[in-house]
Amino acid sequence: MLEISHVKKHFGKQEVLKDVTLKVNKGDVIVILGPSGSGKTTFLRSLTFLEKADAGVMVFGDKQLDIHKAKQKDIAWVRKHTAFVFQNYNLFANKTALQNVMLGLTVGRGMAKEEAEAIARKALKEVGLADRADYYPSQLSGGQQQRVGIARAMAVKPDVIFFDEPTSALDPELVGGVLSVMKKLAADGVTMVVVTHEMKFAREAATRVVFMDGGVIVEEGSPEEIFTHPKEARTRQFLRRIL
Ligand code: ADP
Repeated sequence: MLEISHVKKHFGKQEVLKDVTLKVNKGDVIVILGPSGSGKTTFLRSLTFLEKADAGVMVFGDKQLDIHKAKQKDIAWVRKHTAFVFQNYNLFANKTALQNVMLGLTVGRGMAKEEAEAIARKALKEVGLADRADYYPSQLSGGQQQRVGIARAMAVKPDVIFFDEPTSALDPELVGGVLSVMKKLAADGVTMVVVTHEMKFAREAATRVVFMDGGVIVEEGSPEEIFTHPKEARTRQFLRRIL
């Protein structure tokens, strides 16, 4: 469904992505692991044009484009077919949970207000926040705000949802609620690419685990292959440190 090839990116003299290629099939739950600074976030942000890559080709459905030369209308097309869940939620502080979820549908997709509201309420219900629809972000816990972020992503029914360390800003007791919503999405067959340090989620929900280090994909495979029989020394070393 989505194939991104030979993505390169540098910041100043630092080469942050050195030729990264990833294939995403419909229904995949891909977890990207790797030490801090390995380029995981930059990779996700490059795919969604939040960061401008130096090179790379994206094949998405029947579209093919050079991501470093993408035109505004290509970018809009990709954004319309994807959604992004941010580490820091990125909700509008002056909008309620319901309004935050609705915006992607009304402003983002040109949907009528009534229809958008019905979809947004359903999405909030699915993340367990039906009774928080009229709350502002400041009246919600971090975990609840992130679940609003996920509801916003789900509501637009994207082909793929990208998650950038969705639980790493949360207090430990709030992580579980967000992960269980993500597991439910995974079980429902939603295509997801997730950068996370949550190894339990990776083991239980991933269809494929990708290990990145130093701006390259070092190794990828099933959770079983990566966690139980990693082939590469760098993967073993990383897992030893964190497990
Ligand atoms: P990860 O998500 O694996 O922790 P990042 O993609 O966030 O890694 O960062 C990879 C490298 O790129 C890091 O060394 C980081 O400091 C650098 N980097 C990321 N964003 C920027 C930026 N906007 N400007 C300069 N350097 C950046």
